[in-house]
Amino acid sequence: MAVNFLYPDYEVARNYDRCIVCRACERQCANEVHEYLADANKMVCDDAKCVNCHRCVSLCPTRALKIVKSGNIYKENTNWSGKTINELYRQAGSGGVLLSSMGNPENYPVYFDKILVNASQVTNPSIDPLREPMETRVFLGAKPQCIERDGDGRIKNNLPPQLSLSMPVMFSAMSYGSISYNAHESLARAAEELGILYNTGEGGLHEDFYRYGGNTVVQVASGRFGVHSEYLNSGAAIEIKMGQGAKPGIGGHLPGAKIVGDISRTRMIPEGSDAISPAPHHDIYSIEDLRQLVYSLKEATDYKKPVIVKIAAVHNVAVIASGIARSGADIIAIDGFRGGTGAAPTRIRDHVGIPIELALAGVDKRLRDEGIRDNVSIVVGGSIRSSADIVKAVALGADCVYIASAALLALGCHLCRSCHAGKCNWGIATQIPELVKRLNPEIGYKRLVNLLTAWRHEIKEMMGGMGINSIESLKGNRLMLRGVGLNEKELEILGIKHAGE
Ligand code: SF4
Ligand code: SF4
Ligand code: SF4
Repeated sequence: MAVNFLYPDYEVARNYDRCIVCRACERQCANEVHEYLADANKMVCDDAKCVNCHRCVSLCPTRALKIVKSGNIYKENTNWSGKTINELYRQAGSGGVLLSSMGNPENYPVYFDKILVNASQVTNPSIDPLREPMETRVFLGAKPQCIERDGDGRIKNNLPPQLSLSMPVMFSAMSYGSISYNAHESLARAAEELGILYNTGEGGLHEDFYRYGGNTVVQVASGRFGVHSEYLNSGAAIEIKMGQGAKPGIGGHLPGAKIVGDISRTRMIPEGSDAISPAPHHDIYSIEDLRQLVYSLKEATDYKKPVIVKIAAVHNVAVIASGIARSGADIIAIDGFRGGTGAAPTRIRDHVGIPIELALAGVDKRLRDEGIRDNVSIVVGGSIRSSADIVKAVALGADCVYIASAALLALGCHLCRSCHAGKCNWGIATQIPELVKRLNPEIGYKRLVNLLTAWRHEIKEMMGGMGINSIESLKGNRLMLRGVGLNEKELEILGIKHAGE
């Protein structure tokens, strides 16, 4: 008899007193956990297939279902946790690399949760955002060091191309292929309604979405999938993807099974062929090489589009950013190690890279020290979860943030971390037509608009509380921040004082 070393992670608890055997759970679960036994007129389930996505729980009409953590436990200790033992057994069984989705879940410090924001009192009055104007608009792009005038004293219009955003938020890169058509449509429509931008990711731009070009960042990654002149000129900005927070130092891989129909056409590769993005760009081995690509893209778009260079937050990120700021790029995007992904090797996701808060503070300081901070705008991502995270990121030096996981949560994602399996029960990380239909873009885009409308109100309230009336005044204003429970070195890198000082 074969020995099964692995216990199911979850158990599906069904309250048979409530269950009316409607079989909705069976229809809703793409993982085939639920099964109807006709002889017994009873539902049963295979717990081992459950990924805890809560689709069946949310749609059970009688609230008969609950997903609970498996009661089976390994004899674990501090060194050998149940998770470590489980992963080892899985690899001993499969001989394969472990794959994971979404961001790093490990127990590293979340610095945003150890930073507190100031409020004004008495001598520096707070501002009421309901009665006073509060400016959340930001402009991204290189800013000139000085104003130039012509012979008649008129200001010369020599401003490099800028992105204008109604608030300091953009939707981060998620490719068509890793997420569904309906998820992309929701993001594009929400970006247009909100006056912000969404990002194609590395999969090219579906022909239906060219109409959202003014609210689109088109990405150029190492695989160069779907990149052509019309594509480059269709967006408001171009992003060169050099790295990603969830998998620094390695490339991407969308299996051939997902390269079908529109996805194959959009990526300009044959159906069924694996879409492999190499780890490096094979034409970039130095800042000079990067500069050539930046200027090739500017040349291809008549110098009208800002160019973003996206990198993962790694140990020497400040030095790398300094080089990028000199490469001609207009915007640097830095992706922290908690950033989400459709699929990444688990060991890379969980052990490579650094927190975005430290990377941001280090990059902002270095660029200021070198006198080149205004050459570029800084956009940061990697688990921005709330308006408070945005306020703290801006005060640490960011011009804007990227959100992705938070946007997917607004669309219905339940963080089951199984995107790589391609059977997302919420219609987001899947290309299976019956599943894609479950995400209604009409509802999806409104939920995204609601989320960011709420966040914009909260940002204004927090700024008003500090006596600050614009994002520009908050940017890099570290006096507005204090640390709690951080050591001297952490405070030094973040450039903030400890609470009580
Ligand atoms: S959806 Fe709920 S009521 Fe319907 S079969 Fe499943 S557990 Fe029973
Ligand atoms: S995978 Fe999702 S839908 Fe299926 S049983 Fe588990 S929670 Fe329910
Ligand atoms: S997008 Fe779908 S598969 Fe991915 S974590 Fe969210 S619910 Fe799970």
